[in-house]
Amino acid sequence: MNPDTIVAINSAIKSAGGLRKAAAHLKVSAGTLSDIVNSRHEHVRLRTENAVRAALGLPTLHYHTVPACPDCGSIHTGRCKGRAVEVRPVRKPRPFTRWADAPTRELAQALINRQEYQP
Ligand SMILES: [Zn+2]
Repeated sequence: MNPDTIVAINSAIKSAGGLRKAAAHLKVSAGTLSDIVNSRHEHVRLRTENAVRAALGLPTLHYHTVPACPDCGSIHTGRCKGRAVEVRPVRKPRPFTRWADAPTRELAQALINRQEYQP
């Protein structure tokens, strides 16, 4: 339940002069309004809350359902197989113009293979 929704409903109830009058004005169920203002989350689905928000002139809420990791149960990409998941930026390696700028592994490979320098 979004706190914005509860605040907007409470002000609608105050301006309409009662929960049932506010529900009639917004063309939504009084029970739904009651469930939202009394924070009975399990009674109100996101679709219902969005319908009430639309009636109040509030933007709709979006949530995405993502499957949990089968190994640890948390949310991340791929499988962790029980190991800690580290978040790191993925950056494309910049092409080097001199051997001195080459990564050590690539430089070693070039030396082993007696690769000529070709800029
Ligand atoms: Zn995992």
